[in-house]
Amino acid sequence: MSIRAVRYKISASVDDLGPRPVLPLAHGDPSVFPEFRTAADAEDAVADALRSGDFNCYPAGVGLPAARRAVADHLSHDLPYKLSPDDIFLTAGGTQAIEVVISILAQPGTNILLPRPGYPNYEARAAFNNLEVRHFDLIPEKGWEIDLDSVEAIADKNTAAMVIINPNNPCGSVYTYEHLSKVAELARKLRILVIADEVYGKLVFGSTPFVPMGCFGHIAPILTIGSLSKRWIVPGWRLGWVAICDPKMILQESKIATLITNFLNVSTDPATFIQGALPRILKNTKEEFFKRIINLLTETSEICYRELKDIKCITCPHKPEGSMFVMVKLNLHLLEGIHDDVDFCCQLAKEESVILCPGSVLGMENWVRITFAIGTCSLLDGLDRIKSFCLMHKKKIPLNVI
Ligand SMILES: *Cc1c(COP(=O)(O)O)cnc(C)c1O
Repeated sequence: MSIRAVRYKISASVDDLGPRPVLPLAHGDPSVFPEFRTAADAEDAVADALRSGDFNCYPAGVGLPAARRAVADHLSHDLPYKLSPDDIFLTAGGTQAIEVVISILAQPGTNILLPRPGYPNYEARAAFNNLEVRHFDLIPEKGWEIDLDSVEAIADKNTAAMVIINPNNPCGSVYTYEHLSKVAELARKLRILVIADEVYGKLVFGSTPFVPMGCFGHIAPILTIGSLSKRWIVPGWRLGWVAICDPKMILQESKIATLITNFLNVSTDPATFIQGALPRILKNTKEEFFKRIINLLTETSEICYRELKDIKCITCPHKPEGSMFVMVKLNLHLLEGIHDDVDFCCQLAKEESVILCPGSVLGMENWVRITFAIGTCSLLDGLDRIKSFCLMHKKKIPLNVI
């Protein structure tokens, strides 16, 4: 079943006319909750850019020069070398950045390595471009680290790249400096690119700090994907980027920059006034805004982890420390009349009006993904409803085994 079909099936199960509000714990877009409202500085930057009248024109295909420079400066801040504006390509959100990267790698015979569980847009885009996909595993018992042996086992001479998502959607994990350096060493050994999806960059609230993969660009070339959507909580602004982090200029020969430029020259661009506002958004957003969001996510992730611990039919192998999600295992043997994760999500939607994302659409059957990036009251309400759902469906233990 396609993701669309699953999503449709789950939403069709919801009783819209029920007495209780529907709680969207499936996707990561907290922008509708007042406590997650974006920074006033960012809104002012967009309003002023729009009112200036300077950004009513078509933008340059790869992005306005000042906006590209702003992203280069913004990312260079955390790198051991400087990116140039020419290394930055502006896209309509992280989604178009994925489209760009997958499209330019899709050559006949080539394959790409994706994480399992993962972010299904990569699979969908690769299928669209006839790019062969192979999966490596993330290990729940090891804080969802990448199983590097499984990467090596599936790579061959036709492998172009591997994708890593850090901080991780759907697992809520954050990779350590040591782990990322091993990823880079492996990429060098396999002679492949690393595509680092960092749309949740800096959204971390555990003990592991966020380290950009670009820090290892001298070991293997990196294409970093970024976006305003998650950190600024403005997915509707549709602004993202691809950054070529390749201080040794290994990619120059393969003309990656030219391929990206050619792609973007024939596709749509992010709205010019958002690009016009970008330098101010990146420079002027105050630390207090980011702190407030991190504090909120710290609180909601802790509530989520604590409440889930109380639910017997759900196991949470790793406390989330980044992104907006946690991946949990369903113990179906403790439940009556629930066949799999999709069935769990459909029945939960129908009976409790809570929407979760079934793990099978992310590559892991009988797991579910829960977002904690929603208002605290809604989150508590949602977890409470999941708890009563599990109690209602608890398998009755036959008297003779007690
Ligand atoms: C949300 C998301 C994206 C897409 O970013 P947008 O800016 O919303 O288009 C890409 N990758 C991951 C892992 C995401 O969660």
